[in-house]
Amino acid sequence: REPVDGSASTATSGLAARLDDLRREYAALQARGLRLDLTRGKPSAEQLDLSEPLLALPGEGAHTAEDGTDTRNYGGLAGLPELRRIFAELLGVPTEQLLAQGTASLTLMYDTVVQALLFGVPGSERPWSREEQVTFVCPVPGYDRHFAICEELGIRMVTVPMTSDGPDAEAVAELVASDPSIKGLWVVPTYANPDGSVVSEAVARRLVSMPAAAPDFRIFWDNAYAVHHLTEHETKTANALQLAEEAGNPDRVLMYASTSKITFAGSGVAFFAASPTNVAWFTKHLGIRSIGPDKVNHLRHASFFGDAEGVRAHMRRHREILAPKFSAVTSILAERLGDLGVASWTNPDGGYFVSVDVAPGTASRVVQLAKEAGIALTPAGATFPYGRDPQDRNIRLAPTMPPLEEVQVAMDGVATCILLAAAEAATP
Ligand code: PLP
Repeated sequence: REPVDGSASTATSGLAARLDDLRREYAALQARGLRLDLTRGKPSAEQLDLSEPLLALPGEGAHTAEDGTDTRNYGGLAGLPELRRIFAELLGVPTEQLLAQGTASLTLMYDTVVQALLFGVPGSERPWSREEQVTFVCPVPGYDRHFAICEELGIRMVTVPMTSDGPDAEAVAELVASDPSIKGLWVVPTYANPDGSVVSEAVARRLVSMPAAAPDFRIFWDNAYAVHHLTEHETKTANALQLAEEAGNPDRVLMYASTSKITFAGSGVAFFAASPTNVAWFTKHLGIRSIGPDKVNHLRHASFFGDAEGVRAHMRRHREILAPKFSAVTSILAERLGDLGVASWTNPDGGYFVSVDVAPGTASRVVQLAKEAGIALTPAGATFPYGRDPQDRNIRLAPTMPPLEEVQVAMDGVATCILLAAAEAATP
């Protein structure tokens, strides 16, 4: 990752001289008795209000899909065609290769891994659970729930660093080429959780074309923030499915997305896209698990958006709410820590998080100091497998949920905690 400002590696001893001042500043912070929370990567109530009309849709009497299907009844395993069409355009995939399902993409990811363990995927020699060992490559910092799936299911995790262009593709390629136990790679291609990076076209090409020792190696392409822009520039994600097909590895990529942070996080719609072979494989198991998804919810979403442009317009309204919060985070960090060399942080163009690297060895202390001053931060280490950050320096900030004024107060407090922890560490 490219640091926006400062550098965590050069924590100055000048700071040690400020220790007493910083202790006083921190005591004043504690005395304010704050109760603030920057842990939750959730939409705020104001954002949820943007989708309030959904609660009155599709409306009494409006239960018929465009092809005449009665959405109230069983069936339609792949999801409602009119909604699939809208999101197929947004995700750059053919509608036939996109399934619309339940409310959480995480469930679809979990199901995929479980089904791979139980049955294997197309190209597997045997179910993954019959392999001596199954390994996933985990770019770090990353999304804790990806790591939790691996941990629960007994999948070994090896880490590679994130760069500003996504996972370090050369590091991934080296591992994947030589180790046949590597069956999976987690990728959040657009505005990654937590560092906001976007996979470049070159990295995407490398990942879909690199030789893999396992014939059934899969990339879990979790496009959770595909349309979640924070600036006017609406970044277009590399089209991994198409690139994989062109590279002669059409089955390598499994794509996930959802409307959790577009409409309602809990009553949205989740999507799965892949090659026709993978979609047939997934659908076969899906059809045992379910007779069909909630098509009334699909219809509700399709009528709410109308078309892909409707989604884009809706996301611009999210942006108006979110952009000031993100700019508060980065400007307060720059103001308070800019030229002190105690931290670096990301300045994302989209997504839900800001990733901060503090002075090595101090992330847990920063989180503890913040907690004792009434500011809840995501536990240090959460962005690494098993919750262990070997350098104890990464902190994930989630500014979407609290009101702007609270984000400002919390971030000023966080800056004080980062400085105090660095000063303590620099004091002999
Ligand atoms: N993927 C990433 C990268 C996320 O950050 C999140 C939520 O924070 C999810 C998936 C969860 O998505 P869903 O609500 O569709 O399960």
